[in-house]
Amino acid sequence: MTEERKGFKRANAHMIFLPAEFVMAITHVMSKMEIGNYNAILLVICEGLKNLDLIDDPTYGLFKARYSRKLLDLVNRKRVDRANAGKEKPRCRWAAGSAMKCRRLATVTMKKGDRMVSSCPEHIEGFKKHGYEVLEET
Ligand SMILES: [Zn+2]
Repeated sequence: MTEERKGFKRANAHMIFLPAEFVMAITHVMSKMEIGNYNAILLVICEGLKNLDLIDDPTYGLFKARYSRKLLDLVNRKRVDRANAGKEKPRCRWAAGSAMKCRRLATVTMKKGDRMVSSCPEHIEGFKKHGYEVLEET
């Protein structure tokens, strides 16, 4: 069975229904190893395939290490990556709608009192109408 997502089929994606006993056991693996649910399921499959002698030692070692990565480590790494990406490329803070920000690449930093914003070329005049002045090019 393949899972269809966003209009294309992913050949190796499977939607499976787990018996309650498996869910409880996998939940135990998640808690004991501090890993996420997908990694716990794949780790259990990895261990099962190794016990059945269906995968070799290098394959087992590779996937055991991959699926044993702690959930908080993975999440924190993503948060750091996201924060660094934001620092490298400031985005326009112009509110295009109720809660929507413009988000185009900013070319200037603007200032109004203590408040600072980033703006793309298109929204500099809009910020000026709200009392902001260009502070520096970014
Ligand atoms: Zn903009």
